[in-house]
Amino acid sequence: MGKLTLSKSSFVKGLQCDKHLYLYKHHYSLQDPISETQQLVFNRGHSVGKLAQSLFPGGVDSSPSKPWLYNEAAKKTAALISNGEKIIYEATFVFDDVVVIADILVNDNGSCKFYEVKSSTSISDTYLIDTSIQYYVITKCGLNLSEASIIYINNQYVRKDALDINELFIKESVLEVVKEKQNFIEEEIQRQKNILKLKYIPQIDIGAHCSTPYDCSFINLCWKDIPENSVFDISGLRGKKKFELYNQGIVSLDDLTNDSLSQKQSIQLNSYLTGESVIEKDKIREFISDFEFPLYFMDFESFQPAIPLYPNSKPYQQIPFQYSVHLQQNKDSHVEHFEFLAESSKDVDPRINFIEHLIETLGVNGSIVVYNKSFEITRLKEIASDLSNYTSEIQKIIDRIKDLMIPFQQKWYYTPEMKGSYSIKAVLPALVPDLSYNDLEISDGGSASHIFESLLNENDKEKTNYARSNLLKYCALDTLAMVRVFKILKDFSS
Ligand code: SF4
Repeated sequence: MGKLTLSKSSFVKGLQCDKHLYLYKHHYSLQDPISETQQLVFNRGHSVGKLAQSLFPGGVDSSPSKPWLYNEAAKKTAALISNGEKIIYEATFVFDDVVVIADILVNDNGSCKFYEVKSSTSISDTYLIDTSIQYYVITKCGLNLSEASIIYINNQYVRKDALDINELFIKESVLEVVKEKQNFIEEEIQRQKNILKLKYIPQIDIGAHCSTPYDCSFINLCWKDIPENSVFDISGLRGKKKFELYNQGIVSLDDLTNDSLSQKQSIQLNSYLTGESVIEKDKIREFISDFEFPLYFMDFESFQPAIPLYPNSKPYQQIPFQYSVHLQQNKDSHVEHFEFLAESSKDVDPRINFIEHLIETLGVNGSIVVYNKSFEITRLKEIASDLSNYTSEIQKIIDRIKDLMIPFQQKWYYTPEMKGSYSIKAVLPALVPDLSYNDLEISDGGSASHIFESLLNENDKEKTNYARSNLLKYCALDTLAMVRVFKILKDFSS
């Protein structure tokens, strides 16, 4: 696409930040690498878009074969319309160096309707903007549009046996709002074109706009001078306050004072400045006294398919597919390990085998130790609600759960290495430096989730086995980490 040509996505970037637009069009190679999460969001958008096409079956695809061949695609779209083609997918239009691609165009004897498909569960202001620019270009190309709608996912839909796409998707007309925005769109297009003609990169400082409405793809470039241990690392400090400090020239934690910081934030700052740890032994002792052997250290992994795959599940519902449990019978015994990883299949609901194995693994007494109990408890309650056979056993499990995160969340135990975070990924290297996530292929729950979801479409057995063995290693480390962290707390309190 030409360097002065706008598209729907570059237009949204230009609304976010002039520098973002300019860099994207003139210095594309300086972008941050695409993260796994961004790739997943992109793939998800693509599959949701494809599925939504079945709401209007029998259409003809008019998408460009390569992104830069949009003029060719626009000619094809124009020919399809003039030949009376009723339904066109990826209908492409170009007007005055602005390119848009409508997900679905319905041509009803010269009166057209277009539908923009989103994989989200609500309509955001940004979606209204990008539907408005599409309306602008399509009408400027001479089409008579009688409808502009956004199709998005109904988060209240509960799948029965078969997927019902008419229930899964909501079609909502935004025609009136979009019409109101036309003057703004026209002016903004001209403004952005002028930005693109500049001979220099616009001088825009970092700010809240770097992550609103989306994370900018030039963070590494623009934020490169922010030091490690800056005001942006103060845990729980509002974004507005961080930028206020930044704009006053207070960037490094070395320049920050405790004024206007909460008690926990002051602990973080003081610990950084003095290099000293905070350990409140009495509180830790009281906390630990509540745990009863045998101890079951437990961790779940889950994934969130946008399109519900299994009966009794909703769009984006967290579906647990894996657990690891380390069992310690008494304070002197070695730990035993138990694990479960569901078959990666769209046809087999992982929750059934997951909960049946889990109930068996956890026995009937002793404390169940998790890190951030709201996650595990919510997943268990969802299973109890969706699969009613297990309700009473699940309630007994929930009643035994203890949260190992509390001493770190409350900053009863805090070291400067934790950098304000109380996640197990921050606590482990501070307390147990010989145990690390760094050597693992999968080192966070988000990646585990994406990898399991990607296996649903993987036919290569070798790749599947490799990914599964990495998933097992990752989840096992999460619970082994808890075993080691618990031992340190227990040793302190004995
Ligand atoms: S990182 Fe922030 S300042 Fe830099 S281009 Fe992106 S939005 Fe603009």
